[in-house]
Amino acid sequence: MSSSPRATQVTVPVSAQLFDRAAAIIPGGVNSPVRAFKSVGGTPRFIDSARGYMLVDADGNEYVDLVSSWGPMILGHAHPAVVDAVRRVAMSGLSFGAPTAAEIELAEAIAARVEPVERVRLVNSGTEATMSAVRLARGCTGRSKIIKFSGCYHGHVDALLADAGSGVATLGLPTSPGVTGAQAADTLVLPYNDLDAVAAAFAEFPDQIACVITEAAAGNMGTVAPLPGFNAGLRKLTSEHGALLIMDEVMTGFRVSPSGWFGLDGVAGDLYTFGKVMSGGLPAAAFGGRAEFMDRLAPLGPVYQAGTLSGNPVAVAAGLATLRAADDAVYSALDRNAERLGGLLREALTAAGVAHTVQFAGNMVSVFFADRPVTDYAAAKASDTWRFPAFFHALLERGVYPPPSAFETWFVSAALDEDAFDRIASALPAAAAAAAAATPEGPRA
Ligand SMILES: *Cc1c(COP(=O)(O)O)cnc(C)c1O
Repeated sequence: MSSSPRATQVTVPVSAQLFDRAAAIIPGGVNSPVRAFKSVGGTPRFIDSARGYMLVDADGNEYVDLVSSWGPMILGHAHPAVVDAVRRVAMSGLSFGAPTAAEIELAEAIAARVEPVERVRLVNSGTEATMSAVRLARGCTGRSKIIKFSGCYHGHVDALLADAGSGVATLGLPTSPGVTGAQAADTLVLPYNDLDAVAAAFAEFPDQIACVITEAAAGNMGTVAPLPGFNAGLRKLTSEHGALLIMDEVMTGFRVSPSGWFGLDGVAGDLYTFGKVMSGGLPAAAFGGRAEFMDRLAPLGPVYQAGTLSGNPVAVAAGLATLRAADDAVYSALDRNAERLGGLLREALTAAGVAHTVQFAGNMVSVFFADRPVTDYAAAKASDTWRFPAFFHALLERGVYPPPSAFETWFVSAALDEDAFDRIASALPAAAAAAAAATPEGPRA
């Protein structure tokens, strides 16, 4: 499935040339693996510009964007309020290595939205946030072991790469070479949505488990919401066993509701990680949680964590502008757009006779080529993922840009309008037909 015959039907000469040139200097031609289109084949589109829901590639082709930079762009691209804030702040200096007032505002904005968060530390990526939260959990409990779930992705932290989702899933890696046995040895990987497995792990390793880290709702193996009672069960088990619960809301935070997944299920974690939406498309992220734990961080406490560019004024400005612009109307548009997209996916695939399940977690949505709901990574992998490349390329050729992997969430923005949905609706029947015609050997049209 490494190359798709369909992909050669549309010529994107400038992107093809750029991809060749990139491949000579950047490993795989990309700075993050899933961008390389490896699991779907074909030429990755190099993007020139974007506005609202529309991406424009280097060949001048337009696409309705259903990736939204993997989540952050809930307002759509180049939103005037965000661009203005960035421009204004950049004029006054790009980085100081000293505190600024805006950092306090962003931290306060996060804590005001997510009630269990009493303290916030800003970092530069979701990876840094989860790495720091796990270190803090270990520092606070004096324990080594951590529990993560199969198919959940928490960034490329060594200890968290085991059986991870996102690009690790897309490329079919069990874990990554370069992660030593020692780094992985303290990571217990359990099936998502399986509370019995969590209870059994706590029974097997009493007083040794520092934390459970979970995606508040899983979006990196495709969209797989927690089953009713799963997050609450994790809360109960961690409390009973003196372990911390880390809610990774890097994807869900400030997307699925103003308070993220916490706003939907109300289950309080001890520590939280955020990224994506909270920095509006610039590199910033955060971790936070209860003061009794967060105040163990340096300089107050002994758990070390730092960053030259942490709290960068331009990134903070983009984040604050995004959160301020994300009013009730934006969240209802996100919900409405996700529902509408899911409905169109269902309609087209049903008409083409392709077994599928469209899954939601709030306004995150994805489609599995499976005839029953997918609740864990094993089921996600067992689905007919071989239908995806043909489906993907048929959409791309018709001006719709879905995530280039069967294991990723589709991210709507509030900028999708009637015109965008018209384009999606007219592209879908041919894509569904391509999915129907695909075979396990490869996407033959
Ligand atoms: C994207 C993501 C991360 C990693 O964030 P980066 O900014 O890419 O390092 C961590 N956890 C979850 C749930 C994510 O979706």
